[in-house]
Amino acid sequence: MKEKRVFQLTEKRDRLAEQMPDASIALTGSLMSRMVRCNKAGCRRCQKGGKGHGPIWILSVSEGQGHVRQIPIPRHLKREVEQGLRRFADIQGVLRQIGQVNRELLEEQKRQ
Ligand SMILES: [Zn+2]
Repeated sequence: MKEKRVFQLTEKRDRLAEQMPDASIALTGSLMSRMVRCNKAGCRRCQKGGKGHGPIWILSVSEGQGHVRQIPIPRHLKREVEQGLRRFADIQGVLRQIGQVNRELLEEQKRQ
């Protein structure tokens, strides 16, 4: 039954929409770590073969047209940044599912 299918898809779509996480903390970019060299004479960590200091954390944000902005993230903000990035990904995941269900709905409605 087409009506039943439309009903099921609508239900599914509405359930997904209700699950949509709060977007207020969503953050774009990706978090990367990197070791750095202080260049101080005699620093053992920065000697040849040394690991350097760190890691330091960088939020890499694409600004379009090949431009990437790299924002250093202090250690005490790392958790907040990670939560924001995770939230963005979670929202994208739910949104993608809603988009897919709505596409199925569209196809069902076309058949009617
Ligand atoms: Zn050093």
